[in-house]
Amino acid sequence: MHNVLWIVIVLISHEAFQYFKTCFHAFQTSAQRVIPTSKAPVLYHHVILWTCTCLHGIFITDMPELRLNLITKEWVIISTERAKRPEDFKVKGKEKAVAQFVETCPFCPGNEDKTPEEVFRVSDGDTWKIRVVPNKFAALHRTAERMRLNDGYKHVISGFGIHDVIIETPLHNMTTALQPVDHLAEIIRTYKRRFIELYSDTRIGHVIIFKNHGERAGTSLEHPHSQIIGTPVTPFQVRSRIEEAMRFFDITGECLICKTLTEEKGEGSRVILETDHFIVFIPYAAISAFHTWIFPKRHSAAFSDITEDEMQDLALNLKTLLCKLYFGLNNPDYNYLIFSNRIKDAKSEYSHWYMSIIPRITTTAGFELGSGIYINASLPEKNAEYLRTVKVPHSL
Ligand SMILES: [Zn+2]
Ligand SMILES: [Zn+2]
Repeated sequence: MHNVLWIVIVLISHEAFQYFKTCFHAFQTSAQRVIPTSKAPVLYHHVILWTCTCLHGIFITDMPELRLNLITKEWVIISTERAKRPEDFKVKGKEKAVAQFVETCPFCPGNEDKTPEEVFRVSDGDTWKIRVVPNKFAALHRTAERMRLNDGYKHVISGFGIHDVIIETPLHNMTTALQPVDHLAEIIRTYKRRFIELYSDTRIGHVIIFKNHGERAGTSLEHPHSQIIGTPVTPFQVRSRIEEAMRFFDITGECLICKTLTEEKGEGSRVILETDHFIVFIPYAAISAFHTWIFPKRHSAAFSDITEDEMQDLALNLKTLLCKLYFGLNNPDYNYLIFSNRIKDAKSEYSHWYMSIIPRITTTAGFELGSGIYINASLPEKNAEYLRTVKVPHSL
């Protein structure tokens, strides 16, 4: 009889504990969302948050949680049990002396004849600051006819597309993080120019701008460059994001990105940097350590609408973030990309362009490939806090 009584007591205690944890978590989340407006509520707000933080440390630290990324609809396991400190992601043993000029590099000055004929250049007297050339090993061919064939379950489109390389600087050993802001703004202007030019070809369905920095990010050439690809179709990943944004707009009448921006700004714990036109933050459901988003504050569906002021400001935001990664994590490999709607949908009320930066300091494995669920062994809030403290040298 005593044994049964003990089992009942243990079960009730366990259930009560679980119930308390759930209530506490909900309470903490709502406390974080309150934006105090006068002095007394500010004090009250901080007392509540401090109490929650202490209780969080006692009860919930070792609990992994699944967070939903509302924009991509991806689930991410924030694996707090295995969570590393931000400093643990520093890249080790990467220092390697690289020359300013490499004779065999097709992107170095003097080797212009080793690339296909130039499409555009930003001149610097007799030489150049930035060059745009067709990719010699293009994934798609600009001269192919766009033809479609449906044969039973086989759906084929000929390999038409435009694949350009943007050679960002004549200096072989330059790193984007260390470029002057004005030069980065020039690179962004070049992105905008080619983005508009690629869409002027009506056979192009979608344009993607991206950069692979370092071997782990998939680059084969060391010389700083980014790429722009126009495909004859809209990729599934882009289409699904646009559809999710449309669904959210149908239900709420709001742009999902504008809404996320307001929420992140209000909560503040994942924000790294904010300027007049942009906010840089680690998403609530970041897919990997230091995965970061740069959102334009002004609602704008297509990157082609970016203004001159915004390009200069974006250059500053991008440089500051890349510098913080460079100094804080020892120059990690990374990919960055621009998600944007098509120019003909630039007036869309529900889609909103943005930049995503993904440092390649962790690897995705079978579980991610099989489930589409990512495991992030770090806390977005801690990583953002760490990057906020990384100082960028004034000389840069
Ligand atoms: Zn080079
Ligand atoms: Zn918006």
